[in-house]
Amino acid sequence: MIIGILAIQGAVSEHADAFQRALRSRGIAGETRLIRTLESLEGIDGLAIPGGESSTISAQMNRLGMDTRICQMVEEGLPVLGTCAGTILLARRLESDGEEVTNPLGLMDITVRRNAFGRQKESFEHDIQIDGIDGNYRAIFIRAPMIIGLGEGVVSLAKLGEETIIAKQGNMLAMVFHPELTMDTRVHEMFIDIVLKR
Ligand code: GLN
Repeated sequence: MIIGILAIQGAVSEHADAFQRALRSRGIAGETRLIRTLESLEGIDGLAIPGGESSTISAQMNRLGMDTRICQMVEEGLPVLGTCAGTILLARRLESDGEEVTNPLGLMDITVRRNAFGRQKESFEHDIQIDGIDGNYRAIFIRAPMIIGLGEGVVSLAKLGEETIIAKQGNMLAMVFHPELTMDTRVHEMFIDIVLKR
């Protein structure tokens, strides 16, 4: 199993480490591959789009011609994980607050509000419950967006108050927090399960 990590900007090495821990804890022989070129997308079994600055990632993806190829691969069934900025990039609709322009890939039928928790609370941690995961999960939010609209066929797997913080649509999993910044590998394992089912 080869998990590609889009390595343009953001929490790239943290995702690679988290996937390596998750693969080990599942006893799966797998590896991670940092995706910096269009060619390196070929042959991967899953793709993670990390958190960071969505406008920067989107501009580079576009410049490298990766956006078109990623859309094609995901539409053909490639499992994709979006975390924080990655979720902004997967969205079909964005509600912005005058931030730098981000051109999302538009793959998931969700509406995302950037920086939804406000600048005064740019980061915080919260215990959440996730469908399919037993017990609490400590989630780290950094300038987090919020998933404010879910189209048909999209399920909410976790909420903070009334708002969705994890959405799943077929082979696509999107969350507004940073699972790669904790030692808890359960969210990465959840994505590995989607890859295994493909
Ligand atoms: N607010 C950032 C953006 O709009 C996302 C923050 C993050 O990924 N931690 O790109």
